[in-house]
This record gives sequence, C-alpha cells and structure tokens, in this order.
Amino acid sequence: MKRIIRGATLELVQGDITLQEVDAIVNAANSRLAGGGGVDGAIHRRGGPSIMEETRQKYPDGCPTGSAVISGAGQLKAKYVIHAVGPVWRGGQQQEAELLASAYRRSLQLAVEHQCRSVAFPALSTGAYGYPMDQAARIALQTVYAFLAEHGRPELVRFVLFDDRAYRQFAEAMEELIPEHAPNQG
Ligand code: ADP
Repeated sequence: MKRIIRGATLELVQGDITLQEVDAIVNAANSRLAGGGGVDGAIHRRGGPSIMEETRQKYPDGCPTGSAVISGAGQLKAKYVIHAVGPVWRGGQQQEAELLASAYRRSLQLAVEHQCRSVAFPALSTGAYGYPMDQAARIALQTVYAFLAEHGRPELVRFVLFDDRAYRQFAEAMEELIPEHAPNQG
C-alpha cells in the first residue's frame, strides 16, 4: 500500500528491515546505543561488528530519547543505519507521542542531510518499548506525511512491518489519515 506525497512515495510493506535495499535503514535503538533484541539485534547480527564499533567511537554518550544518530551499515545492503531512539511507553502522559514523532523527524532529517533517496523504518517503540501499535502507527504516518509534504524528500519512505498485525494497523491508519486524493498528493 502506498501514497504519493509531493512526488515522494510513502509505502507500507510486511517484511524484515535488515533485508531492505534502500540507502538508509532505521534502527530501533536504545539511548546507550548498547545493542538489544528486536530490530537492533537483527541489524547488528546481519550488519556485523563494524556498526557498533563506529557508534561507540562517534557517539560515546549515546543518543537521547526522541533523537537519532547515523553510522555506516557494515555488511547490510543499505549505505547507512540511522539509530533512532523512541520512547518507552509509560501510559501516554510522559511526552511519549512528542518523543516518538521527534525520533521519526530527526531520522528523516539525517537521511536528507546524507543525500539518502530511500529510507526504511520499523515501527519504532512498538516492541520491547511497549508503545501501542495503533497509536504508534498514527504518529509514525502523520510525522512522515508532514515531513514529505514540507520537503518532498526522501524520494521513498518505506515502513517495514514485521508481522501481519502491525501491517494491518499501519494500513488502517494510512487509509484514515492520508486519503488517496489528499491535497499534497501527486
Ligand atoms: P523498541 O525497543 O523500539 O520497541 P523493537 O526492536 O523491540 O524496538 O521492536 C520494534 C518493532 O519492530 C516491533 O513491532 C517488532 O515486532 C518489529 N521488528 C522486530 N524485528 C524486526 C525486523 N527484523 N524487521 C522489521 N521489524 C522488526
């Protein structure tokens, strides 16, 4: 499923983020950039040790929640990994929505600054960090939509949803938030 926004494509696929052939893939990192399970574990396993070596050296203090940092991508097909730190879900009153939106925005800015034409995101914060998928999907799509409506790039933003349930929640949110003939389409 996809939408065209100011000439850029926003699409949803089901799959594994580590296998995407895009300029940058986004990691669901933690603020110490310490490595973990989920997306992070899969990226470091498939990309090899150079990714963690680089982030340790360049970002010894880690990365605050709501922000992102960039590194090379080791053996992955992508050129870069953008390590985005989404919030831990604590019930919704701890700025979770703002922090999640800001992690997406900062990742998109980094992608554009590094001339990435295509970028793939997982559903940040929806695994170990416990963010409810329906709410996370709306924030993710709204934030990317607003960014593309303003900047018209990256040319391709792909959400790679791991399972069927995540895909369906994102697809529902997309139907609702970005009508097929929205003003910025085309
Ligand atoms: P967080 O700590 O930000 O919650 P996780 O990595 O635990 O990050 O999970 C984020 C989302 O990514 C979850 O919805 C999880 O199902 C999904 N996920 C896990 N592995 C992959 C993968 N290889 N590709 C894409 N999505 C994945």
